Amino acid sequence: MNEYLKRVIDDVKAKHGHEAEFIQTVEEVFTSLDPVIEKHPEYEKVDLLNRMVEPERMFTFRVTWMDDNGYWHTNRGWRCQFNGAIGPYKGGLRFQSNVRTSIIKFLGFEQTFKNSLTGLPIGGAKGGSDFDPAGKSDAEIMRFCQAFMTALYRYIGPDIDVPAGDMGVGGREIGYLYGQYRRLKGKWENGVLTGKGLSYGGSLIRPEATGYGAIYYLCEVLKHENDTIEGKTIATSGYGNVAWGIMKKAAQLGAKVTYFSGPDGYVHDPDGVVTEEKLNYILEMRATDPMHCKPYADKFGCEFVPNAKPWGVKDVDICMPAAMQNDVNMDSAKKIVDAGVKYYLEVANMPTTNEALNFLREQEGVIVGPSKAVNAGGVGVSALEMSQNSERLVWTEEEVDNYLGKMMKNIHDSSAKAAEEYGLGYDLVAGANIAGFLKVAEAMLEQGCF
Ligand code: GLU
Repeated sequence: MNEYLKRVIDDVKAKHGHEAEFIQTVEEVFTSLDPVIEKHPEYEKVDLLNRMVEPERMFTFRVTWMDDNGYWHTNRGWRCQFNGAIGPYKGGLRFQSNVRTSIIKFLGFEQTFKNSLTGLPIGGAKGGSDFDPAGKSDAEIMRFCQAFMTALYRYIGPDIDVPAGDMGVGGREIGYLYGQYRRLKGKWENGVLTGKGLSYGGSLIRPEATGYGAIYYLCEVLKHENDTIEGKTIATSGYGNVAWGIMKKAAQLGAKVTYFSGPDGYVHDPDGVVTEEKLNYILEMRATDPMHCKPYADKFGCEFVPNAKPWGVKDVDICMPAAMQNDVNMDSAKKIVDAGVKYYLEVANMPTTNEALNFLREQEGVIVGPSKAVNAGGVGVSALEMSQNSERLVWTEEEVDNYLGKMMKNIHDSSAKAAEEYGLGYDLVAGANIAGFLKVAEAMLEQGCF
């Protein structure tokens, strides 16, 4: 490995020893850059890599809120404005009890390269809180969101930093967050957040965009392999917005999701989640119970396997983990390979441990699509939402969907081309890292050192 690169990775490990997820993502991205750094000795002179692993700005804040019984609670809030070289900071907010500095930093780092890959002018950011939304009443969620925005509003704006949703933050939370922002600013600035409701400036297709985009990306991979999506079966994990978008677009294009999971286990529906009734039930189940997917199996009379993940099931063509980080470890990866699955597309952010990811990439006949490319349609449509807001107009569903399809093709093609140019063949993981990196690197260098 290039010496400068190796030194930076070692330094990150030494300096950020307690931030496991952050180290994991830096190692994954930077290892791919080896041939690039080797070819560009000028990067070392300006210490570009060390600059890239240090967020431009990151802060924590106190969020206090009152529950329905009149008791006060204190949570931690974070915002990490990782890299603003190519556009205003952009990235979601995650509300989950396990949120900590390492999680926010890994997500912000990934977001920087992902946003670059969309081809749109958005920098990388992430934020969130260790607040656990499970079991909270609507009024409690509202008070928490208002308190969170009260602490954050001074530091964001349509041309500064534009948060959106991530796990635990959906349309309802974005609505409460925007309401509070507007109250505090006394101004109509709805471009400050994306993932908004349609009544106040949200974009059509935004809720579906990550899942739809993942399927469009899959179509490009299949095209490359002289294959088609017709009749393919898919195993996914999760049943939130993202998995739902995958199910819906797969059904539209003649494929079917036959396995999905929740924290309680997985469901096997051999007919696929393809009918409107089933797709609507997924939404309903998610809204009422984010912890259990068994009710789907009960309602539609299919198999439910408790406390297990669908990795290694024998009767699928494609695996698309869409739930959370490090969902697929070495053990699961081996089972996936043994089951003869040819396409492994990451959809959640960093759903595969580095060891498992490298193992899958080494397998002859297995094609791996990396999350920062496969799931980039979500933030890509967020950028379209920002642009609709600043122009004060509304795109049709068809316009957004068409743009999304083209964007995903572009992300696939530019990743494939970058890997090819550096002699790596059809390596979509390295290609996405290289293509995402080069644009940010160029912007940083052209703007001088700071
Ligand atoms: N949280 C999403 C992601 O991981 C969306 C971010 C956004 O739309 O800003 O990309």
